[in-house]
Amino acid sequence: PDEKPAVIKYNISRDDIIIGRILGEGFFGEVHEGVYKKRTGGEKISVAVKTCKDCSMDVKEKFMSEAVTMKNLDHPHIVKLIGIIEEDPVWIVMEICRHGELGKYLVQNQPNLPNVTLVLYAMQICKALAYLEGLHMVHRDIAVRNVLVASPECVKLGDFGLSRYIEEEYYKASLSRLPIKWMAPESINFRRFSSASDVWMFAVCMWEIMSRGQQPFFWLENKAVINHLEQGVRLPKPEECPPTLYTLMCRCWAYDPQERPKFTELVCILSDAQKMEKEQ
Ligand code: ADP
Repeated sequence: PDEKPAVIKYNISRDDIIIGRILGEGFFGEVHEGVYKKRTGGEKISVAVKTCKDCSMDVKEKFMSEAVTMKNLDHPHIVKLIGIIEEDPVWIVMEICRHGELGKYLVQNQPNLPNVTLVLYAMQICKALAYLEGLHMVHRDIAVRNVLVASPECVKLGDFGLSRYIEEEYYKASLSRLPIKWMAPESINFRRFSSASDVWMFAVCMWEIMSRGQQPFFWLENKAVINHLEQGVRLPKPEECPPTLYTLMCRCWAYDPQERPKFTELVCILSDAQKMEKEQ
């Protein structure tokens, strides 16, 4: 009898939502801005509403799986799930991040973003990932396109489409939708995903941040990437990236997953680096 409270908690009524302009296009459908009026107290909050365009039974299950994952998460740098409307058309209601995708934000605000802010973003994402690691969760798609900007001083991990709880050390993924240029060699070769492969991806994401929105390996085709990695080639130091941070990225790109640092260690190093940048 006590199996369902989590589900009930997140079921909200469509009547309590006013849907607004389109914020972006997702894999399943449009994402809208909206206002959610809470039943208790009548407080109004801005939200993002994910919709599902061609929501047949099995598509619906995939669409909902992201929300199911997010239900169990509570972290200041992970986008919060507010509610789910399960009747068709299915809506997933989330906390809104007004400034959109970090990748685009970096490109648009390039000259105004000092290193101290960039390191702050890296540290916040790293904290969210350390939290996931503590829950034995692997994200598998860490990239600036999946990070949202809540305010100029706060970013949040926003996409859980690919993430999965894992009981084993790794998870075999399906071939499609693989972000090769972000992936660790064992993920490319054997489709092995672990917290250590998340560390590799996080360092690629950090490279995107420190290079203010450049595409990793834009000079290579996907199929050439693994050969380069096996020969020991790594992404070059972004122009204005402090050398200590680049050294840290390179440690995360150790070929052997066991040699890579853990997220908890990365959080400590990044918070020191952030303090250093502040003092300058
Ligand atoms: P999917 O993972 O289903 O492809 P995304 O989560 O990437 O969809 O969302 C698509 C776009 O919608 C994003 O690129 C972003 O512009 C916008 N978006 C998604 N979630 C939010 C949010 N919580 N706040 C603000 N904008 C969002």
